[in-house]
Amino acid sequence: MTRVLVVEDDPQLVRALVITMQARHYGVDAAPDGATALRLAAVRRPDVVVLDLGLPDMDGVEVIKALRGWTRVPVLVLSARQASDEKVDALDAGADDYITKPFNMNELLARLRAAVRRAETAPSAPEVPLVTTDGFTVDLVAKKVRRADHDIRLTPTEWHLLEILVTHPGCLVTQKQLLHEVWGVTLGNKTNYLRVYMAQLRRKLEADPSRPRYLITEPGMGYRFEA
Ligand code: CA
Repeated sequence: MTRVLVVEDDPQLVRALVITMQARHYGVDAAPDGATALRLAAVRRPDVVVLDLGLPDMDGVEVIKALRGWTRVPVLVLSARQASDEKVDALDAGADDYITKPFNMNELLARLRAAVRRAETAPSAPEVPLVTTDGFTVDLVAKKVRRADHDIRLTPTEWHLLEILVTHPGCLVTQKQLLHEVWGVTLGNKTNYLRVYMAQLRRKLEADPSRPRYLITEPGMGYRFEA
């Protein structure tokens, strides 16, 4: 079965896409925002991603960049944006195709089939959603971290933080995003949680936790993972 990940924040459109695709025997997962999309992409391993560019938590182009850090899964961009430089940005970031809203469902399905076909015929190395640095590797499916040939034990909270950071390589992830994603709270006096857990992660993953090479602090803003 071909698995599709639909990333779209318009519930009506999601419903239409899910019903149409399921009727054609696709397996469909839906993500209402970019963070969920990145997590589902790693866990569910879709054969193709249909991605709206205007998402509530991040720009769709950032989702494409984060995906391209570890996967060649075909990405079909769905967007209301007509401007051609938006299309260029999406394609440059690694999208495979682009369709403008409002779209014809049959055309979308045809492009979806074409994207899957191209991916199947393209020679490619077997893909493991593995984030690799010189210091450690993160297996996003097995949820395992290895460093110097040893499995590193992380608490669920440490894992969640690390997962968010490594699926956004090179991007600033704000304190607010992290607190919301991991603890379900908004910014307040809770930024000390973040400092404590980041310090723990660095002790486990960094050669010199006081001078981090991979888990970088952006003072006053948030954190960034550099591979
Ligand atoms: Ca949208």
